[in-house]
Amino acid sequence: MSYTAELIAVGTELLLGNIANTDAQMISQGLSALGINVYYHTVVGDNPARLRSAVDIAKGRADIIITTGGLGPTCDDLTKQTLAAAFGLPLVFHQPSADRIADYFRRLHPHRPMTENNLQQAMLPEGCTVFDNDWGTAPGCAFASGGVRVLMLPGPPRECRAMFEHRALPYLRSLSDGVILSRTLKLFGIGESAMEARLREKMNAMANPTLAPYAKEGECELRITAHAPDQEAARALIAPVEAEVRALFGPLVYGADVKNLESAVLQLLKDRGLTLGAAESCTGGLIAKRMTDLPGASAVFRGGVVSYTDAVKHAVLGVPEELLTVHGAVSPQVARAMAEGARRVLGCDLAVATTGVAGPDPDDRGNPVGLVYTALAGKDFCHVKELRLGASGRAGVRNRAAHHAFDLVRRRLTGLPLD
Ligand code: ATP
Ligand code: MG
Repeated sequence: MSYTAELIAVGTELLLGNIANTDAQMISQGLSALGINVYYHTVVGDNPARLRSAVDIAKGRADIIITTGGLGPTCDDLTKQTLAAAFGLPLVFHQPSADRIADYFRRLHPHRPMTENNLQQAMLPEGCTVFDNDWGTAPGCAFASGGVRVLMLPGPPRECRAMFEHRALPYLRSLSDGVILSRTLKLFGIGESAMEARLREKMNAMANPTLAPYAKEGECELRITAHAPDQEAARALIAPVEAEVRALFGPLVYGADVKNLESAVLQLLKDRGLTLGAAESCTGGLIAKRMTDLPGASAVFRGGVVSYTDAVKHAVLGVPEELLTVHGAVSPQVARAMAEGARRVLGCDLAVATTGVAGPDPDDRGNPVGLVYTALAGKDFCHVKELRLGASGRAGVRNRAAHHAFDLVRRRLTGLPLD
């Protein structure tokens, strides 16, 4: 069966806008990877009456309620009391938790006596599963009542994440008979709405596995999630759907369960024993940054030149002055000369180049914002691609230009057409 969940974040500072509800984002991502549908996010202040009414509503519409925050020792930390009361459970003293809290306190503040209110945190709903907190003081917990599962996690994001991963997820996994497995296909070169339009009927008709689209900056994901008695059966459910999606989108699918385009490129370069370099104008080092964000990049990435001015394009990369004056820096001719120059000065097998107008204003030759040329040079070829990335803002233009540069490398290395 598939569960529905509601997250209730407790904290007046969230309502005031002092902090963003990052706990909810993190938990939602984790739940959707488990195949649990999150239908509501609720935020409520440190007010027991309003928290109680939020819980009463959630009880009627969710199988799983997860609260964050309000588990600490201070008088505004009322989550446990309120949730226990809403489900008619008394709070009882849990000695092992009290010992852990005292111990944690001693290690953190060896010279300060622990105040009595810290032991409040060891009062837990009767019969609950205690989530030991190895990252802070307040234990979390889970209980089932009236067909609803309630999980309570601490608010501080570092604690919340660790408690979710190491305590809540194993608990939630044990609820479902069998396994939930998902596989994420990554696509580049198609927008989310175009992707969804081609899949909508199919997605609506599917129950197991499910197919869910996600849009990310400049690229898309499709997650296939299967529920089955074991891993092998889940994989068998996923495989035909994956094959169908790949047949439908062909070369737009750049990987499955890979982090991003650059890591797909890194792997391809490694597999083929090739090196890459970059000459960057409008991306200003972003390609080099994204490559070197990846562990192991040094095996394939030789380096990059940020040639932001004509002078550097000429002096470092050897772009002929004549090309720069006749065609301008934002031109296919200069993109080509940059890539070829980078290949030479960096001594790499393949070099990418970007030159374009990131905005917000057109350049002095009147080239529009978002006009970018990206080039890929190799031993006996150089391919230049013109991009129109107009509407995505300065950061978006730069990011997408880098995406396209990586995609050129990927296409070349997998024998796909470059356009
Ligand atoms: P503590 O023991 O620190 O009191 P707690 O479980 O009682 O933890 P809160 O007092 O509600 O949690 O929140 C502690 C801090 O955690 C808040 O000041 C806030 O910075 C952060 N926090 C709380 N809830 C969230 C949330 N949903 N998203 C991001 N940060 C949060
Ligand atoms: Mg608190």
